[in-house]
Amino acid sequence: MTGSDQPRRRQPAEGMDLLTLDLASAEQLVRDLGWPRYHAQQILRWVYRKRVREIGAMTDLSKSQRSRLAAIAWIGRTDTSDILHSEDGTSKFLLRLQDGLIVETVLIPDSGRLTLCLSSQVGCTFDCGFCLTGRMGLKRNLKAHEIVEQVLTVQDHLEPGQRVTNLVLMGMGEPLANLDAVGQAVTCLTNATWGLGFPARRMTLSTAGLAPRLREVAALGVNLAVSLNATTNAQRDALMPAVNRLHPLEDLMAACRDYPLPPRRRLTFEYVLLAGVNDREQDARRLAKLLNGIRCKVNLIPFNEFPGSAFRRPDDTEVLRFQSVLRQAGFDAFIRKSMGRDVLGACGQLGSLPGRPAAVAFTPVGAAT
Ligand code: SAH
Repeated sequence: MTGSDQPRRRQPAEGMDLLTLDLASAEQLVRDLGWPRYHAQQILRWVYRKRVREIGAMTDLSKSQRSRLAAIAWIGRTDTSDILHSEDGTSKFLLRLQDGLIVETVLIPDSGRLTLCLSSQVGCTFDCGFCLTGRMGLKRNLKAHEIVEQVLTVQDHLEPGQRVTNLVLMGMGEPLANLDAVGQAVTCLTNATWGLGFPARRMTLSTAGLAPRLREVAALGVNLAVSLNATTNAQRDALMPAVNRLHPLEDLMAACRDYPLPPRRRLTFEYVLLAGVNDREQDARRLAKLLNGIRCKVNLIPFNEFPGSAFRRPDDTEVLRFQSVLRQAGFDAFIRKSMGRDVLGACGQLGSLPGRPAAVAFTPVGAAT
């Protein structure tokens, strides 16, 4: 549903947003209403599992209960402002938040998987030179329910029988700079009693490298990906200045080595390949040395261009050569397919700049390959 066929939106001032509830606060709400406790889980089920947008649809509450609840509460679902469909099946959803800001979330079908890439901020805390989101600056942190809501909205648009198989916090923003909200969202997404019941082992959080906070990801039970992207401080300072000045490479690597990896899990290191900058054989060798002894895999991401980007995507032969150095050193190294480039839906392409709305279509160099 878009535009004029939306039901009138209630304003936040009109009461409590039921999407902000967890089990404890839902139980408090029904206690305040003088209702039996089991209504708390009923309400949460309607909101998170059945994804209703109106309290009137909660048909296992009596009519009078529904109208009492509707007098004090509402369901703050976003409007879908636009959906851009890529030739490769990827869809980029532009969701309009209550304050009018737009957040982007990307649904990526690939080899039997359906991965949803969630945003944690509008814009980003950091300024990595190869990422469009960084150029927006930070507009604001998302609230927990605004992260969860991205999942609900995309689920509303799935074909019958389609199911999201993987969730990745790799969209706009730096999740560890908004860890409280991200943690609450993960709880809601994974809790099988009252939340969405999504398995934590199928969720991955990606960080630009907030070394002191890595451990807190382990406590959430989700997988951790670290965007390394460089193998020396000089290189990392040039590419990811803000985060590397806060947490230089040696601190980041120490935190990775100390990370309490659960059995049978491994860390993921992401490495954006920028032609002539960090894609040489010596970079690959230094990367192998840096990761030596860490239980991990490496995801190589050939640079995705965006309008005005200063870097170039390496040729496939360079990418394969980089991969083979890592493989020869004994690492599992994968090349991430770039999905959704034509709708600016691939890694590093999310965001809007003044005069260039997020909904722009884009023909990247070499898009046909
Ligand atoms: N802030 C988090 C999550 C968002 S970026 C992080 O830095 O990890 C998700 C991934 O996309 C990161 O690995 C990042 O290095 C990569 N990336 C950013 N811009 C890119 C671009 N233009 N092309 C390819 N990958 C990019």
